[in-house]
Amino acid sequence: MADEQGFTPRSTDFSAWYNEVVLRAELADYSPVRGSMVIRPWGYGIWENMQRALDQMFKDTGHQNAYFPLLIPMSFLEREKEHVKGFAPEVAVVTHAGGKELEEPLVIRPTSETIIYAMFAKWVRSYRDLPLLINQWANVVRWEMRTRLFLRTAEFLWQEGHTAHVDEADAEAETIRMLGVYRTFMEGWMAMPPVLGRKSDSEKFAGALRTYACEAMMQDNKALQAGTSHNLGQNFARQFELKFQTAAGGEDFAWNTSWGVSTRLVGGLVMTHGDDGGVVVPPRLAPIQAVLVPIYRTDEERTLTVEKAHGLAGELKRAGVRVHVDDRDTLKPGAKYFEWERKGVPVRIEIGPRDVAKQSVMLVWRLELGGRPRKEPMLESVVVDSLPERLEQFQQALLDAAIARREANSYRGVTEYARLREIVEGAGGFVYAGWCGSPECEEKVKDDTKATIRCIPFEEFRSPEAPARCLVCGGEAKMEVIWARAY
Ligand SMILES: [Zn+2]
Repeated sequence: MADEQGFTPRSTDFSAWYNEVVLRAELADYSPVRGSMVIRPWGYGIWENMQRALDQMFKDTGHQNAYFPLLIPMSFLEREKEHVKGFAPEVAVVTHAGGKELEEPLVIRPTSETIIYAMFAKWVRSYRDLPLLINQWANVVRWEMRTRLFLRTAEFLWQEGHTAHVDEADAEAETIRMLGVYRTFMEGWMAMPPVLGRKSDSEKFAGALRTYACEAMMQDNKALQAGTSHNLGQNFARQFELKFQTAAGGEDFAWNTSWGVSTRLVGGLVMTHGDDGGVVVPPRLAPIQAVLVPIYRTDEERTLTVEKAHGLAGELKRAGVRVHVDDRDTLKPGAKYFEWERKGVPVRIEIGPRDVAKQSVMLVWRLELGGRPRKEPMLESVVVDSLPERLEQFQQALLDAAIARREANSYRGVTEYARLREIVEGAGGFVYAGWCGSPECEEKVKDDTKATIRCIPFEEFRSPEAPARCLVCGGEAKMEVIWARAY
């Protein structure tokens, strides 16, 4: 742990920096149960804003929320062979309840495909009942061996979308559409630009036909799988008798999709924008966008500046800005500054007696961004009108910086295996290279370097020139892939 005010610098130990920031910005804390986490109000406030934005986007694309139970019969999980194989090692099981051993053990949901499609099977009769578009906000439990706050915890919060469709084309369109929704959210709200693509077979969801993912680059140049969307084919529908009468009068199994993002996104946000002073929360997600700090020495000055701060806060609130007046008497202004900087509030508004006399305030931005100075004196009369727009500019500048950083650490057209190792084992980054499609080549890179295929990128992310050879074996390249170490 570094000194009182500062954090271990990112450049010294990114992982130590991350843990310190999450704890000391009061985003989360360790719980008494190994691997689980307590989300504190500041972290939960960010998550609530994420939820709000995503929930609206799900509704705008025709989905409805519902809730399914936490406990799932063990036999349900076992029905889909690949699914149980993928999840069995990390499943928590309830064997006793009400003082008795249960006849059938109950699984605490690691994900809800099985219970949801069992219910869909009761509700769907005909093609007229499709598509069925459901989302649930819930907690899930996966007994992970190595945990990290937000990034990998035994219990986490997420949303899981589950849909049923008449045919493969409709299911595939939904899978891609929801991946696009995630992208819009990650770019627009988180200022975290992901690369989109398909997962290789070894990395796809247990039981899926195809998995697509949003892969974002963190500041240590490792990848974070930030969201996934799966075309489940008819695999689950077959096991749960999710059948429907087709328009032609026949009978067919439905096609399913599922897609999810979790509280892991909060960790992604920290690792995308945080700096050696703490977290930086993009304005659209910040529970507090502007904190007003009155500065005073005498009682008279206190009355003057606190009153002024509350007056301005009221006006800003009416202009749609989320504000907070920090008028605590128990802390010096400097200590307040550190606290709000650590927590990543986008802008601080300082109000001293001299400012009141001049009818102005001092804005201090959390970061110097987009060529603007951090400190910006502003007339009170201008603050209310200009702050919403300034916050949007700050949001945009964060995204621009994240895109620039990702591009600066992306390596295209890599053809030498030694070069891949050099990048991955050095500063890290996204390595674009050819792949023959063989699991052996994929496995070799993983064993040698701990890098994995993050995705087979969608066309817009691919290099202008398609690679000719597999980076590993030199055979003919069937596709371009992105290699990186990942969280
Ligand atoms: Zn190969």
